[in-house]
Amino acid sequence: MAVKDESAHRLRRRILVTGTVQGVGFRPHVFRLARRYGLAGWVCNTSQGVLIEAEGAPHSLTSFEEALVREAPPLARVADVRSATIHIAGDTEFRVRQSVTHDEVCPVLPADVSLCDQCAAELRSPANRRYGYPFTNCTNCGPRFTIVEAVPYDRRNTTMSRFVMCESCQKEYDDPNDRRFHAQPNACPVCGPHLTLDGSTLGGDANVIERAALILREGKVLAVKGLGGYHLACDARNTAAVSTLRIRKGRVGKPFAVMCADMSEVRRICHLDALSEELLRSPEKPIVLLPARPGNGISPQVAPGMRTLGVMLPYTPLHELLMSEAPRVLVMTSGNLSEEPLEYRDDVVVDRLGLIADHILSHDRPIAHPCDDSVVNVADDTPMVVRRARGYVPRPIEMHFEMPCVLACGGDLKSTFCFTRGKLALLSQHLGDLENALSLDHYTSMVRRFQEFFDFRPEVIAHDLHPDYASTRFAQSTGLPGEGIQHHHAHVASCLAEHRLDGPVIGVAFDGMGYGLDGNSWGSEFLTADLQSFRRAAHLIYVPQPGGDAAVRRPGRMAFSYLLHSFGDREEATAAMRSSEMDESEKEAVFMQIERRLNAPLTCGMGRLFDAVSALVGVCDKVTYEAQAAIELEQICEHTEEAYPWSLVTDVSPFQIDVRPMIRRIVEDVGTGVEPPTISGRFHSTIADIVVGVCVQIRDDTGLSQVALSGGVFQNRILLEKCGKRLRENGFEVLRHSSVPCNDGGLSLGQAAIAARRYMHRCV
Ligand code: ZN
Ligand code: ZN
Ligand code: FE
Repeated sequence: MAVKDESAHRLRRRILVTGTVQGVGFRPHVFRLARRYGLAGWVCNTSQGVLIEAEGAPHSLTSFEEALVREAPPLARVADVRSATIHIAGDTEFRVRQSVTHDEVCPVLPADVSLCDQCAAELRSPANRRYGYPFTNCTNCGPRFTIVEAVPYDRRNTTMSRFVMCESCQKEYDDPNDRRFHAQPNACPVCGPHLTLDGSTLGGDANVIERAALILREGKVLAVKGLGGYHLACDARNTAAVSTLRIRKGRVGKPFAVMCADMSEVRRICHLDALSEELLRSPEKPIVLLPARPGNGISPQVAPGMRTLGVMLPYTPLHELLMSEAPRVLVMTSGNLSEEPLEYRDDVVVDRLGLIADHILSHDRPIAHPCDDSVVNVADDTPMVVRRARGYVPRPIEMHFEMPCVLACGGDLKSTFCFTRGKLALLSQHLGDLENALSLDHYTSMVRRFQEFFDFRPEVIAHDLHPDYASTRFAQSTGLPGEGIQHHHAHVASCLAEHRLDGPVIGVAFDGMGYGLDGNSWGSEFLTADLQSFRRAAHLIYVPQPGGDAAVRRPGRMAFSYLLHSFGDREEATAAMRSSEMDESEKEAVFMQIERRLNAPLTCGMGRLFDAVSALVGVCDKVTYEAQAAIELEQICEHTEEAYPWSLVTDVSPFQIDVRPMIRRIVEDVGTGVEPPTISGRFHSTIADIVVGVCVQIRDDTGLSQVALSGGVFQNRILLEKCGKRLRENGFEVLRHSSVPCNDGGLSLGQAAIAARRYMHRCV
């Protein structure tokens, strides 16, 4: 209730609210509260957050400040509220002021939000003026990050600035009691963006949707402009259509994600648990990995060799409208040529996607910068973000200590970068692999963009130790003081950062490869580590990786390497490898490379061991996308507690993990006709055994009992769950990733945390 204080005693307070408070309906919330408590003054967005000056009776001000946080809008995340009493200004009313730009602290841009229920209902009601309008949005939903061209987040700084609001929209925008009060992308059919099909408006959005849906029903490939870029879409139940898309896109085997019309369709094609359902429905609307139902009618070409499907629900009004007329399940994959960055630019889309898509469904609301769909898996009833992009970025990650401004460059695969300031770490969206000039350009331009937006002035630049990484060379080209950080130390640190801890912990970092201090490929690392330094405690015995990168593409090469390592001579190794797609001359070359150590760098990567076993049991001998052999080995895994023998050599430092006994037993199993799913199960149990056994040994030596699991191999849900369970049974506390990818997508956060700690240490 508004309380009129007749006594002349009035106070004025300046209040700064920081966190995710822009583009989430925070100013209307402030306005309503000010009215409720009879306060005068103003509210505005600044590059720091939401700034308020309010004056009135002292007890009203107190209630107001309490309600600010307590009743904050659902999408807001208040990080901090700072307030101070200032001089009375004598305002007579409360106003929403134009935003101001200044200040040096981290401003926070909102992430894109999927269509809300109220807007979805309006979309479907014929009487509503936004009936069937594909760009419907409000304060609770709509594009944010992907349309922002400058800060602060205001319409004039978005790609919506070219659309002048009609009278009705302006009225909503100005009315504090309206759901669209200061909804920056507010639009309607009269004043907002519209659809086109192959450049033509076809007389209206409804016609475009109808025609686009027909194209999809006819089994053709359609490029669809979404929030963060173009998708390539086709009917997921039409094998001819999916195969055509694969061939044209140059993507041989990597699974495609699908979009289902609604939750009932998700249930029809997949098994769904409560948490996955919640994730699918969340405002972020990520792709969720779900176990597929056999016989669901989805073309095997969608996800060859997989028992899971990546599924998402419509997240824009355009998707919602399209899915109501198109086939119920669509392949929705990034609009790009294989390995190139996601396409989002309207002026080049015909050139770039014209040969892949039969038709292009587009619109005239430009995308300011691209953002892929996010991907989430569930393990141990906890979400595990494996690709962090749309919906999550640029939401900052709050850390447990004040940091200098660091730019961390990540790695070359699944690249991201990370800026820090204060207690906040700003992790970029997934930017793909930096293996060609296009993706590197994209990466560097996004670094510049973030730097401008947030006015970051890095004092240190952190990078991987790999001298040939494009990200390392980029870091060196900036001329800033560099901090080289070992790959697996960064993995462990990213897990620590996510848990707001400094360590020390036992860090287990398993991946395909990361540059080691000895110049070899590391990747089965047991470290004792904190945010400043690490000691290498154990790893797999090194084996040669015949042909270097060629062995990554041909897991059979790693199988021969492990066989030769385990049996000692060619004859036995050859006899052990029953099925191989390798011809005699390649086999000969592989043996030569191994025996003479020619183009056969040493590796202890856990990913390479997975590759070897996958090829040994005949699951996968040729990979067409990263980690395919390991993923397919996990897909067939059958539950068992049985494990193979292995041993730990402890009279050397670091300890050496010897898996030769396991390899010999796998060969025996293959020879006696044990089914690959059983072998895969025993193999997974063995790796969990190794994790527990080595951790116990390290605990005995160091007293550490907290274990951080990181590295891309822990995307393997079975392995992660097995290791977690067994470690807890053995008295360990287990830290694992949830909101930051365990793969190289999380590397930049770990690098940033280490660089920040080292920098502060030097300054003391
Ligand atoms: Zn809405
Ligand atoms: Zn309008
Ligand atoms: Fe890695």
